[in-house]
Amino acid sequence: MLQDALDVMLSDLVLPQNEHHLEGTTDRVIKAWEELFSGIHTDAKSVLNTAFEENHYDQMICVADIDFVSICAHHLLPFFGKVHFGYLPNKKVVGLSKIPRLVEVLSHRPQIQEQLTQQIANIFQEAMQPLGCGVMIEAAHTCVSIRGARKAGSKMITTALTGLFLDKPAVKEEFLLTLKGIR
Ligand SMILES: [Zn+2]
Repeated sequence: MLQDALDVMLSDLVLPQNEHHLEGTTDRVIKAWEELFSGIHTDAKSVLNTAFEENHYDQMICVADIDFVSICAHHLLPFFGKVHFGYLPNKKVVGLSKIPRLVEVLSHRPQIQEQLTQQIANIFQEAMQPLGCGVMIEAAHTCVSIRGARKAGSKMITTALTGLFLDKPAVKEEFLLTLKGIR
């Protein structure tokens, strides 16, 4: 059914019928979308199921420069960039690969950047109950660079904060300074 719909879409766009590279394109588009939207089938919280007890380290932990690609829910065009993440543990820490995995699951869904930022913070806060966490995303949107405003090179930056990151200016400042130091 999706294939029929895509066939209709391609013919409605009046693409040249004799363009042989369009043969099999509907199949390839469906495969690509399946991959790009694969995060829909994963419970994002389950990514954080394995945590380690840690009673000694109580300082900020940051994971920066996590590459991601997502599809904007408004135009079905990619936006991509980097996620920076930090948290203040509350006797529990996660393995280093878990944050990139969480980003992968949530970005492989139709998204808007604001929502993606907030979801990473909220799900981590809920699952791990840290003293607080912070997420910053910087991303380029192809729906802005290749169409519409056509402003290539512009970036959108969004932030979501929870707990002490929100309530204590010194914690927020440490987070932002750490990011500044490693970027
Ligand atoms: Zn868009």
